[in-house]
Amino acid sequence: MTVRNAILMIIALLLGAAIVAVPLYANGYYLALGISILYFTVLATAWAMFSGPTRYISLATAAFFGIGAYSAAITAETLSWPLQLLVAAGAGGVVAAITGLSTLRLSGIYFVIFSFGLAELIRQLVIWYEVNVHKSVGRYLFSDITQEVLYWQLLGLAVVVLLAGYALNRSRYGLALRAIGADETAARHAGINATLVKLGVFVASAVFMSVAGAMMAPRWTYIDPAIAFNPMISFQVVIMALLGGATHLLGPLLGVVPLVLLFEVLTAALPNHFSIVLGLVFVAIVMALPQGVIGLIAPLLARPHAKPVAMPAIAESPLLSVERVSKSFGGLRAVEGVSLTVAQGEILGIIGPNGSGKTTLLNMLSGALIPTTGTIRLGDAVISGLPAHKIARLGLARTFQLVRVMPELSIAENVAAAALFRAGASAGSETEIHDLLELVGLGRRSDTPAGELTYIDQKRLELARALALEPRILLLDEWLAGLNPSELETGIALIARLRDRGLTIVMVEHVMDAIRALCNRCLVMSAGKVIASGTPEVVLADRTVITAYLGEADA
Ligand code: ADP
Ligand code: MG
Repeated sequence: MTVRNAILMIIALLLGAAIVAVPLYANGYYLALGISILYFTVLATAWAMFSGPTRYISLATAAFFGIGAYSAAITAETLSWPLQLLVAAGAGGVVAAITGLSTLRLSGIYFVIFSFGLAELIRQLVIWYEVNVHKSVGRYLFSDITQEVLYWQLLGLAVVVLLAGYALNRSRYGLALRAIGADETAARHAGINATLVKLGVFVASAVFMSVAGAMMAPRWTYIDPAIAFNPMISFQVVIMALLGGATHLLGPLLGVVPLVLLFEVLTAALPNHFSIVLGLVFVAIVMALPQGVIGLIAPLLARPHAKPVAMPAIAESPLLSVERVSKSFGGLRAVEGVSLTVAQGEILGIIGPNGSGKTTLLNMLSGALIPTTGTIRLGDAVISGLPAHKIARLGLARTFQLVRVMPELSIAENVAAAALFRAGASAGSETEIHDLLELVGLGRRSDTPAGELTYIDQKRLELARALALEPRILLLDEWLAGLNPSELETGIALIARLRDRGLTIVMVEHVMDAIRALCNRCLVMSAGKVIASGTPEVVLADRTVITAYLGEADA
C-alpha cells in the first residue's frame, strides 16, 4: 500500500465514522436533514439502478415508497419491526413484478405516463380499501423508533443499496442492462433476455424503495394516502438522479446532497411556489448537465469480464431447415411458402430484388418475427415461435441490414454483451474479445464508443458481436453493401475465413461477385417466393432470375 492510498483510506474511514456518528453530535434539525439525505439517497440510487442504464424514466417512486409506508402503517400493531419491513418489501416487489410484466414493453413517454399513473391508481385503491373495509381513512402510528435509530436504519439501507448496485454493475446483468438501454433489439439478438433482466432490476429497485417507505413511516405518526403517495417524491428523485448522473453508482448521491439542501431552503422561503421552482430546477439541470455532475468528473472505470471460454457445439446436418414458412403483414404476403435447408459448413446465398422478402425471412429465422405459418428447425430444435434471445443462445447469430451497434457502449463491451448468456454460460475473456476484434479488423481500438465508428467499422463490429455468440450458424443481411472495392475484397476474404473455420452461413447479398466467390448454393426470391435455386453459375444464368431482377427497379 502506498502512502497516498493509506492517507485516502484513513480519510475514508474518518468520513465513514463521522457519517455513522451524526446522531451523536447533530441536533434535531441537522439530524432531520441527515435523514432526508439518506432516504433520498436510497430512493435516487434505487431509481438509477433501473432507469440509469435502461433510460426508462420512471415516475413510480412515489408508488413503491407509498406502498412501503402504508403497509408499515397497517401492520404496525400486529407485526414486529423486521416483519413489517419484510411485508413492505414483499408488497413493493409483487406490485413491481405485476406492473413491470405489463408495462416494460412500453417505451419512452408511454412508460413515463404509466409509471406516473401507477402511484395515483394505488392511492385510489388504498382509499377505497380504507373507506370500504377499514371504515376510516388514515392511520395513527405509534412507534418507539427514535430519530437516531431511524437515521442508522436508513444509513444501513443506503449501504445495502449501494452494495447491491455495485454487485449489479460488476455482474453480467449490469452490462446486459446497458446493452438493452443502448439497443434493445440488438441485445435480444445477442442472447440477452431483455424482458427478464429489466423486470428483475425493476423489482429489486422497487423493493428498496418500499423498504425506505416503511422505515420512514414512523416519522409521521399519522399517515393517510395523500402523505404516503405524494407524487412530488417521484419528481424529486428523478431530478436528483439526473443532476448527479444516473449512469454511475455514486452519481445520484452527488445530486441528493445539494438538492435536499436546496429543497429545504425553498420549502421554507417559497412554500407556495415550490412546484414551480422544482420544475425550473429540473429544466436547468437537463439543459446544463445532460450527463449529470458525474459526467464532469469523467468516470474512468473499465469493467473487465474475465471468464473461461466454451467450445462451440458441433451440429448435425441439415443444420437449418425451413418448411413452408410464410409471413403476412396485414394483406401483404412478404414471404410465402418458403422451404430450404442449410447443411453444416455450407454457405447459402439469398438474392432477389428489393422488397422480395429476404430480410423478412431472416427476421423469422432469428426470432425478430414469428412466422404466420410454417416451421423452422435448428438442428433438432423447433425454433419458430421462440423469442430472439433463446434462438441466439441456441447458436444462431445475425447482423442487421441497417447496422445496429450499441452506440454508448465501447467496442469491447458491444462484443462482450453477446458472450454474456451464450450456451455454456461462459462470458467472453478479454483475449477472446480481442481476437474477435482482430479478426474483423478492429483490433486496437477496443475502448472507443461504438457510436464513433464509421459505418463500415460498425458493420465489422456487428460481425464480431455475432461471432461472440459462438454461433453454429450466422445470418448476414447485405453485410457487404456499401463497401468500396478494396473493402469488399477484405470482406469476402473474411467470410471465406469463417467458412474455412467450419461456420455455416446464410447470406443475403446484392454483390454477385461475393455470391459467386463464396456460396455453395444460392436461392432467388421474388415477391416472397423462391423462384430458383442451385449453384450460383446456374442460377445467375437463369432467364427467370434475370427477368425478376430487370423487371423491378433498383435491384
Ligand atoms: P427485402 O429484404 O427482400 O428487400 P423485406 O423482407 O424487407 O424485403 O420486405 C418484404 C416486403 O415486406 C416489403 O414489401 C416490405 O415493405 C414488407 N415489410 C417488411 N417488414 C414489414 C413490417 N414490419 N411491416 C409491414 N410490412 C413489412
Ligand atoms: Mg432487406
